[in-house]
Amino acid sequence: MSEKRTELEQLGEFGLIKHLTKNFTPKHSNTTYGVGDDAAVIAISDKESLLISTDMLLEGVHFNLMYMPLKHLGYKAVAVNVSDICAMNGIAEQITVSLAVSNRFPLEALDELYEGIKTACDVYNVDLVGGDTTSSLTGLSLSITVVGRVQNEKISYRNGAKENDLVVTTGDLGGAYMGLQVLEREKNVFNANPDIQPDLDGHDYIIERQLKPEARVDIIEFLKELDVVPTSMIDISDGLASEILHLCHSSEVGCHIYDEKLPIDAKTSMTAIEFNLDPNTCALNGGEDYELLFTVAQSDYDKIKGNPHMTVIGHITNKADGIYYIDKNASAIELRAQGWDHFND
Ligand code: ADP
Ligand code: MG
Repeated sequence: MSEKRTELEQLGEFGLIKHLTKNFTPKHSNTTYGVGDDAAVIAISDKESLLISTDMLLEGVHFNLMYMPLKHLGYKAVAVNVSDICAMNGIAEQITVSLAVSNRFPLEALDELYEGIKTACDVYNVDLVGGDTTSSLTGLSLSITVVGRVQNEKISYRNGAKENDLVVTTGDLGGAYMGLQVLEREKNVFNANPDIQPDLDGHDYIIERQLKPEARVDIIEFLKELDVVPTSMIDISDGLASEILHLCHSSEVGCHIYDEKLPIDAKTSMTAIEFNLDPNTCALNGGEDYELLFTVAQSDYDKIKGNPHMTVIGHITNKADGIYYIDKNASAIELRAQGWDHFND
């Protein structure tokens, strides 16, 4: 290694991935799509492809065992992987689970973790087919790889959005972030005075959004029934704003997203206000909702418009028009990458 030292935060997470992978070109003709989407696409026939994606969760970085029960952690780890397969419009079928664990954890703790993994495997109809187990000096880390399947004509990449397409999000946004705020607040209260019981009353919905997110496999089913193939799709793991930027940059388009259209549950809004936060900012920048963000051709509008799980939040424009968030006063605010350097995420 030379003397030169470049700090990782200068590149940001995505700059780093780009840098590290820039010299890798596919050697196999069945490698349809490598780095850069929610899952890699590997052709298995003229009709079908395999989808592969990996996600790693580290104690102290992605989860805190003080408020994240191990059963929930196991469930969430599977759900977020299945979500990446959904984001390609595919169906997850298998997972492998790799575990690094310190001797701080007894067998019973790992049993609990695997109970959550098992429940998720049953809910999402996936098979656990392998993994790796090793010791760790610093706590628990969990890496899951998921394999899925998709018909070639149905694959939704991040790069297919076209001018005039509608931008759609599923479910509601910002809840997982507000759930985390409540859990953090109660953790701080508890640390200051362990005699005080956590006060989570009335926050069940948002806490569940944080601790037990679901992959939107139901949406993939709806899209199939409605005969709609999104022109582009991504799952909302880092926050709506960040995912919109990914879609627009990959597709080389611009967009207009409307503040007043963002779907936010009343419980999320109320908690945001209690925390002196703007609910829309939480919906835009809070992560971990694991909803799907996709674009559809205008001609598909009639098929999706009545669906209570889908909300049109804007439309795609020409790249030169830029990526804008239109607020209630009709002022256009340019969306910029936020929280890029996820070295604390
Ligand atoms: P997601 O948020 O959907 O999980 P990421 O932002 O983690 O996706 O990753 C974006 C893309 O970069 C994916 O195609 C992923 O496989 C790839 N990627 C991430 N880290 C690495 C790495 N260290 N080496 C090679 N590819 C990577
Ligand atoms: Mg993703």
